[in-house]
Amino acid sequence: MARENTRKIKVGNLYIGGDAPVTVQSMCNTKTWDVDQTLSQIRAFQIAGCDIVRLAIPDEKSALAIEKIREGTDMPLVADIHFDYRLALMVAERGIDKIRINPGNIGGEDHVKAVADVCRKRNIPIRIGVNAGSLEKRLIEKYGHPCPEAMIESAKDHIEMLEKNDFHDICLSLKTSSVPLTVDTYRLASEVFDYPLHLGVTETGTEYNGTIQSAVGIGTLLMEGIGNTIRVSLTADPVKEVKAGIHILKAAGLRCGGVKFVSCPTCGRTEIDLISLATEVEKRVENLDKDITVAVMGCVVNGPGEAREADYGIAGGVDRGLIIKKGEIVGTYPYDELLDRFIEMIEND
Ligand code: SF4
Repeated sequence: MARENTRKIKVGNLYIGGDAPVTVQSMCNTKTWDVDQTLSQIRAFQIAGCDIVRLAIPDEKSALAIEKIREGTDMPLVADIHFDYRLALMVAERGIDKIRINPGNIGGEDHVKAVADVCRKRNIPIRIGVNAGSLEKRLIEKYGHPCPEAMIESAKDHIEMLEKNDFHDICLSLKTSSVPLTVDTYRLASEVFDYPLHLGVTETGTEYNGTIQSAVGIGTLLMEGIGNTIRVSLTADPVKEVKAGIHILKAAGLRCGGVKFVSCPTCGRTEIDLISLATEVEKRVENLDKDITVAVMGCVVNGPGEAREADYGIAGGVDRGLIIKKGEIVGTYPYDELLDRFIEMIEND
């Protein structure tokens, strides 16, 4: 089922699924009971452009903290709960916007009914998160190894438990640590289910490797019209997950606005330290609240032309560079002055 034809769920003040824009999620790595630290990380996510934040709820102390965290932020909050249905009931009463829990793992039908009832009453959607690493033993025995069919069968089992309780406010994720397996699984899920899909490749490693795997996996699916919300998983500062997620959406043409940064790959014609310059420019413009394209190009051959296409551009020369604004040359400056002059011009424009 194509992205826009899925069901729609409401998470706090935004929607996932149907015609809603694809959202970016991340997960705090603070202790949830440490309210100050958690709120401070949520604020950092917010500045980076995050739409939805998930919090681990491993114990009662963390569940109780949701009340204070709720008071401190309007960010849509998701509780991540495993096995203990009572924690789901606790966070539901304390202002959580969505719960990630697998009904098959919470100890029987009564518990599923209790969670479904409280979530229905409070309009709290549930994400079922099937993970290849924790597939039911029965399915591993049946299929021999994690495969799309096994992942879908697991999801169906969990979904049926909620549907039996007349609960349909569901979102679904089916993550694996293999990009091809993840892509095949979501493709199949999009044919089988009409619930919105939360995309992610899991356990992808540290920043560089993880970003590439997520971009390929999530990006492939998004380009096929599959997926309603995304989470990049990195063994890194989770703010980097948010940034990677937003870049993936932008690359897929699903999010516009903000600063688009362009720079050339450098080559034998480059006569200035373009890598340092481009890195610094990108860092200083990334959070500007402007809808602009900024280009940093290395040479006089292709540089000026490319830089002219952007709203603001630099074209490098020998130890100096040309600054261009909306197609017009502003001036030529020595390398040492180039960065500050350029940023100042963009900020004050
Ligand atoms: Fe090389 Fe110039 Fe192209 Fe940069 S813009 S890659 S320096 S030719």
